[in-house]
Amino acid sequence: MFVHVEIDADAAGDRELAKKLVEVCPVNIFALDAVGNAVIVEENEDECVLCDLCVQAAPPGKVRVIKLYE
Ligand code: SF4
Repeated sequence: MFVHVEIDADAAGDRELAKKLVEVCPVNIFALDAVGNAVIVEENEDECVLCDLCVQAAPPGKVRVIKLYE
C-alpha cells in the first residue's frame, strides 16, 4: 500500500503541533525543520500504519493520510 501524508502549511508552522506530530507518529513520518516547522519525511511515508494518531492530534482536516492504492 502506498500512503501519502499531507499537512496544511499553517498547521506545519504551528510549532506546538509540529512537536506533537513528531511525538505521536510511531514510524517517524514527521520531522522538524531548522526553524521547528513540521515536515513530512517522504522516505518514511510507506511505513505508515494508518494509526490515525496524527490526524487526531491536529485540528480537523489539517493533517490528511491518503491511501493511494492497496
Ligand atoms: S497515521 Fe499513524 S503512522 Fe501514519 S503518519 Fe499518522 S501517526 Fe504516522
